[in-house]
Amino acid sequence: MTPVACAECGTEVLCEKFSAAHTQVQWTDRAASVCPRIAARVAAGELSARVRSCPALRAGIEAAVREGRLEVPADV
Ligand SMILES: [Zn+2]
Repeated sequence: MTPVACAECGTEVLCEKFSAAHTQVQWTDRAASVCPRIAARVAAGELSARVRSCPALRAGIEAAVREGRLEVPADV
């Protein structure tokens, strides 16, 4: 797992690429409470376990892939 930080809120999560299209993102409980985007949705009544998207974090993960910090296994 490779740590990737959200450029917007600084939340750090662990990521692993299984293929170009499949990324596993492992949030920590702390990440769920730190990211303002997730906190806002939880405050609106959504379960934190279901809120798994932070656009800024996603962009950070894509940047990590482009820069080679997050390794993508070749498709078999
Ligand atoms: Zn974020």
